[in-house]
Amino acid sequence: MADYETVVGLEVHMQINTKSKVFCECSTQFGAEPNANTCVVCTSQPGAIPILNKKALEAIIKTGLALDFTINKQCTFARKQYFYPDVPKNYQITQSEPPLCSKGKLAISVEGKEKVVNITRIHLEEDAGKLVHKIGNKKLGYSLLDLNRASVGLMELVTEPELNSPEEVFEFLTELKNIVTYLGTSECSMEEGKMRCDVNVSIRPVGQKEFGTRVEIKNINSMTGVKEAIAYEAKRQKEVLESGGKLVQETRLWEAQEGVTKSMRSKEDALDYRYFPEPDLVPFNLSDSFVKELCTQLPELPKAKKQRFTNDYSLSDYDATYLTSSRETAAFYEEALNNSKDKKMSAKPLANWISTELSAKLNASKIDISQSPISSKNLAKLIDLILNGTISGKIAKTIFEDMYEKSFAPEVVVKEKGLTQISDESKIIKLCQEAIVESPKAVAEFKAGKERAVGAIVGLVMKKSRGKANPQLVNKVLLEQLKP
Ligand code: ADP
Ligand code: MG
Ligand code: ZN
Repeated sequence: MADYETVVGLEVHMQINTKSKVFCECSTQFGAEPNANTCVVCTSQPGAIPILNKKALEAIIKTGLALDFTINKQCTFARKQYFYPDVPKNYQITQSEPPLCSKGKLAISVEGKEKVVNITRIHLEEDAGKLVHKIGNKKLGYSLLDLNRASVGLMELVTEPELNSPEEVFEFLTELKNIVTYLGTSECSMEEGKMRCDVNVSIRPVGQKEFGTRVEIKNINSMTGVKEAIAYEAKRQKEVLESGGKLVQETRLWEAQEGVTKSMRSKEDALDYRYFPEPDLVPFNLSDSFVKELCTQLPELPKAKKQRFTNDYSLSDYDATYLTSSRETAAFYEEALNNSKDKKMSAKPLANWISTELSAKLNASKIDISQSPISSKNLAKLIDLILNGTISGKIAKTIFEDMYEKSFAPEVVVKEKGLTQISDESKIIKLCQEAIVESPKAVAEFKAGKERAVGAIVGLVMKKSRGKANPQLVNKVLLEQLKP
């Protein structure tokens, strides 16, 4: 039986991060009272005139520039006709040919292998409203209409069918989200419906050039859903082919609860949208200077930031990748660094503490670094206390717990609990002498040439000092005392 290759192309809708909608001045705020954010334009009143939001246009162009797209200067809009129960005017205004951005790309890396994925286009369109389905008396159904989302600006990004596994798709979406949130052009949260993804899946025998019949999967609203839906669909298609069946081009829905895709409509029902030019939005051309100006406004993007972190702060690839995995994490790190007494000394330990200790805590409490109970400033102080020898690294971990649970500043915990490290040599000498007397066996072993035996005596000193003795100093003093 032939081995199959999975082929995936994505259609990603991202809500453009502007204060107002794309063709009117209504707010885009999430979670407002139903229909609070509406006006004559977005409720489709006859004769109402759409006016293009310049900021939305800028957001798409910035996104295109960040992803190596060619920006097309002509800007035209069309009506996509359809019976939309959630769009009373029964058409959607969408950008027509050419799209604002053509031929972009995004590099991903899966299991150490780098791959450049070609992106066909990005264009602008408006969102639809939302229907809320209810069951009333005697099980008679009815639906409520909320137009808050109607006419909110979306950018639709379409990739080439070049992704070949659920992992590659996951990486692609993660990278895309990272870049777009760095730009601030969309918040990309799948939970709030600000990023939605239709996944086209087909399979073909390995080595075959022609594509197989594709299925479009809709209704996926989480990153794990995307992965599971692709894996399920590739397996289902393989089973159909291997049992001698034929695949049909169709749209299927992902049922997250059951973990299966179900047929929604076949290609025979495909719609002719009867696109025609939108008469209320005249075509126009973007000027070169407008696009150039947007180029200069692009922030530092994840890749460049990672490079700079590696160079300037001598971080490992792992730490630099982790710290630049979100704009907020990178900002937290640099804020902490700017609050450190000695930037050079703090760079590595700070990176470590953020990528291990802090990230574990934040993951466990399911919160974002921007809501961290430990401020960047306090984390910087904690590292300072370790570096100047006030506390040991081990004690720092218990202080960290208190800082996280109670939002205490580190110096407060150190003082309240009397955790200051003992670096007074005379005190350490005394503790070492006691420990030597109490460890005749280890002393004998050490004198017989087994140097490692000193470890047991160090341990005893640390125990006696309740972890507060400066370990380097203890080592030094013990060796001095044990030398013949
Ligand atoms: P439509 O307008 O009908 O949705 P497009 O040609 O715009 O069709 O393609 C939509 C998406 O389907 C794109 O992301 C593309 O990469 C993907 N696609 C096209 N052919 C295949 C295929 N054989 N297998 C998987 N994905 C495909
Ligand atoms: Mg499509
Ligand atoms: Zn409006």
